[in-house]
Amino acid sequence: MSTSHEHDIVIVGAGTVGCYAAATAADAGLDVIILERKTASEAGHIACGDALKGANKFPEAIPKSQLDSAFTNTGVDHGRFEIPQEDTVVEIPVPGELAVIDRLEYGDRLIEAAETAGTTFQYDTVVQDVIQNDSGTVTGVKATNGNGVTEYNADIVIDGAGALSILQDKADFSNATFDTNVSYSQFSSAYREIIEVDEPVEWDDALVFKPTERAAGYLWYFPRTKTTINAGLGFQMSEEPMNLVDDLARDLRQRSEFKNATVKDKLGASLPTRRPYDSAVAPGFLAAGDAAGHVNPTTGGGIAGAAFAGMYAGEQAVTAISEGDVSEASLWEYNERVMGDFGTRFAGLDVYNVLSTAIDVDELMGLIASLPGEKLAEALYSGTTSFSPLLILKTIKNSYGHWRQILNFYRTKNLADDLMGQYERYPNRPEALDGWKSTRDEIMDQIYDVTGAEVKY
Ligand SMILES: Cc1cc2nc3c(=O)[nH]c(=O)nc-3n(C[C@H](O)[C@H](O)[C@H](O)COP(=O)(O)OP(=O)(O)OC[C@H]3O[C@@H](n4cnc5c(N)ncnc54)[C@H](O)[C@@H]3O)c2cc1C
Repeated sequence: MSTSHEHDIVIVGAGTVGCYAAATAADAGLDVIILERKTASEAGHIACGDALKGANKFPEAIPKSQLDSAFTNTGVDHGRFEIPQEDTVVEIPVPGELAVIDRLEYGDRLIEAAETAGTTFQYDTVVQDVIQNDSGTVTGVKATNGNGVTEYNADIVIDGAGALSILQDKADFSNATFDTNVSYSQFSSAYREIIEVDEPVEWDDALVFKPTERAAGYLWYFPRTKTTINAGLGFQMSEEPMNLVDDLARDLRQRSEFKNATVKDKLGASLPTRRPYDSAVAPGFLAAGDAAGHVNPTTGGGIAGAAFAGMYAGEQAVTAISEGDVSEASLWEYNERVMGDFGTRFAGLDVYNVLSTAIDVDELMGLIASLPGEKLAEALYSGTTSFSPLLILKTIKNSYGHWRQILNFYRTKNLADDLMGQYERYPNRPEALDGWKSTRDEIMDQIYDVTGAEVKY
């Protein structure tokens, strides 16, 4: 049996994107429905490291004050890099507000806020297909639930379905600018456990990172509280697969602070560790968050990007619907806002991700151990860094043995700057995208040359 519903906006996924986009559009008086495949009680339960950078900044549609109960550790202020190869621990200050959250509580509060704003939620509803009219405009989705197949028709569909969204497999975007140059190898596979320990950990003010045996992955230990730790790991899917559950268990066994620990929860998922989509719009369609590569590709942090992209998508949908024009040109400003906010920085950071897949792990760890912490932090979060003469001298002294790699890093950094310059010139209309891309791709070719990395896109 097939039934159908009509709405102004259909949003797929009740994650960060879904809730921010929905609250934004519902606040503006639109009829918004979120379709979520999970049950109501499970909807907020999402695989995550629970670390939040920029923890003081959330879009107004769901202000931070409505999420406060999820902030279980606001005392974290730095990264602690454990480098077994060098027998060293590097403490790196992290700029901006940091926190570790209870992800389920955060998810539940988001959903509650979006519901209060007037969003309809439909749980246990798996979107299976995208509906498009003869000209290719997306006009709705098909989903299955207990009642069979239901069609949800809308002026605009927002894809907040997360990494490797099925909507993009089903839609035909051959006549749109929507980025389809997407492959699983540009994603990471990650897994985390929530672990309780009897004795408080000594590093409850730090996000702990440790390289996995290959450079393209890392382990993390993020303290939700002094005794509840989010422990996890991930690897880039272009690499040979890791056995995530066993590798985490092996590391946990080696750490005395986890003796007699109890595992409370286990979850795994994939996440984009790539540049943001060149365009995340098509007629009648916007994608945001993990569904559009809006994640910091070096840290895997995607909550902040998802919240802001969700708001931008919601606002763009409201404007397009009020103007009666859901064409690509009418939705284009959404792409510009994403690139102008975090997209340019994430594209620059992706260059270091590309570099890391081509670099020997021991050499990389030696290099990290020799560099000044604050400069590393700058590189990690801003996508670029520069050294004062005194710092250069100190670094040269400390980094003897890694000069070849530093030179390589320096060349890569200059190219990352060029790339970010190009993203700052992101076009203001769809017709100019192809020309912009060809200049961007020339810079990417130079990056592959200098780093020796495999072509990623
Ligand atoms: C293991 C792991 C650790 C991470 N650690 C961090 C971290 O510490 N800090 C950080 O900032 N980010 C982290 N991230 C990334 C972060 O979780 C994501 O970037 C963020 O959740 C993206 O939000 P989203 O709304 O785009 O997608 P999601 O949160 O993935 O939400 C997508 C929703 O869509 C639903 N859905 C999917 N397909 C369908 C369908 N066909 N029909 C109906 N519903 C569907 C899903 O059930 C889900 O509820 C991590 C990710 C992983 C996997």
